[in-house]
Amino acid sequence: MQIVILGGGITGMFSAYYLLKDGHAVTIIDKDSPSDQTSAFNSGQLTAAFASAPRIYFNEIFLSYLGRKGAIWISPKQILKDPSWFFSAARKGMTGFEKGILSLSEKSLELFRIFFREESIEVDLIKGVIELYDRIERAKEVAGITNARFVDGNEALEIGYKNFGGGVLFEDGLSVNPAKLFVQLRSKLSQMGVKMILGQEANLNVTQGRVNFVKADTSEVRGDFYLVAAGSRSRHICKMIGYDPKIMPARGLSMIFSVKGGSQIRTPGFFEDYGIGVSPHDSVTMRMTSFFQMVGFNEKFKQSERSWMINTIREHLTADIDIHQIGEGVGYRPCTPDQLPVIGKVPGYSNLFIASGNCRIGVTLAPVTGDIVRSLVNGRELNRDFTQFFDPSRFSN
Ligand SMILES: Cc1cc2nc3c(=O)[nH]c(=O)nc-3n(C[C@H](O)[C@H](O)[C@H](O)COP(=O)(O)OP(=O)(O)OC[C@H]3O[C@@H](n4cnc5c(N)ncnc54)[C@H](O)[C@@H]3O)c2cc1C
Repeated sequence: MQIVILGGGITGMFSAYYLLKDGHAVTIIDKDSPSDQTSAFNSGQLTAAFASAPRIYFNEIFLSYLGRKGAIWISPKQILKDPSWFFSAARKGMTGFEKGILSLSEKSLELFRIFFREESIEVDLIKGVIELYDRIERAKEVAGITNARFVDGNEALEIGYKNFGGGVLFEDGLSVNPAKLFVQLRSKLSQMGVKMILGQEANLNVTQGRVNFVKADTSEVRGDFYLVAAGSRSRHICKMIGYDPKIMPARGLSMIFSVKGGSQIRTPGFFEDYGIGVSPHDSVTMRMTSFFQMVGFNEKFKQSERSWMINTIREHLTADIDIHQIGEGVGYRPCTPDQLPVIGKVPGYSNLFIASGNCRIGVTLAPVTGDIVRSLVNGRELNRDFTQFFDPSRFSN
């Protein structure tokens, strides 16, 4: 069959990878905007996570309005634009989805291991990732939920992180350089025969519950099935054909540094209470990421925000690093109000699927998302207990 994918980020690419392996012909159309490369500008940490978004509590939002510094910021304009999104996100809090997300991420990590074994790509792969917490009790609690290993503040010190109450060590977790994964997956897919139409914006042409073709800037592309995998832009594409997947962008910043004398940090870390990621890549390159800001699509970060991120990291590394910035990029996490992905058939359409909404763990979940897409396209029955929590029809009323 001919499959046309709108969006060549990590989700669209892993979907293409599995569809191709099943013998389908795949075309990816991507607008390839240099200002929007979420799948290349993220932390690249792959762990058995149980939550796809940070907690969104109204008291925290108001404290940030009063000047408290931190990673989360939600602009009042965004709340006024879509108040029901924020009310349901705040109401949902942190319960009810952990088991589902955990089993998806565990399965995805297994698929990543197979992928890295089978495909010779060089992505600065590191084994072992640590999540760090101010409060030792929270570290113990998370270790219990995830089955990862609890470490106390002293062991965190030995690993290279100071001023934390404790942490959770994902010994089977992985870290990659996401920019390398992005570029190499694109070239692998081209070699395998995926047709790439890059630099063109795609939209759907539909009549009576069917997609007729995808309209790109210079062509019309036809297929048997179509997949919207346009990250946080998926909402725009779907709303034009009468379906709202309720995906909002939560932007973040990636800064890449060269480290004089080597980074000395061997285990990538995520500072949960600050929303900051530290990912060493090769011995002299290091990535720092932070911010979960709901401000729409807007690339501008303040210098004071960059300084806050770097200073917070310095306060928590045992090594005194000499860094020189060599790159930077903004990413937009595709987030739903119930913190669950949107994967499945688009309600009201017989030949259209959507795969998005993986928010802050979209790289981790890309293989399992692609694997679900392949099953749906191949018409394989999936257990309803498994599919219901990411079913797109939950947003169709
Ligand atoms: C700072 C930061 C740190 C993060 N850290 C991690 C992490 O450590 N681990 C993890 O698992 N996840 C992490 N994430 C989340 C992860 O990056 C995202 O969830 C993931 O990249 C989403 O991938 P995607 O393919 O669904 O969407 P995207 O990467 O946004 O890809 C969508 C693609 O669709 C294209 N597109 C959009 N509209 C159109 C259109 N109309 N026509 C054609 N093309 C279109 C875009 O150009 C884009 O290439 C992080 C995110 C950020 C911002």
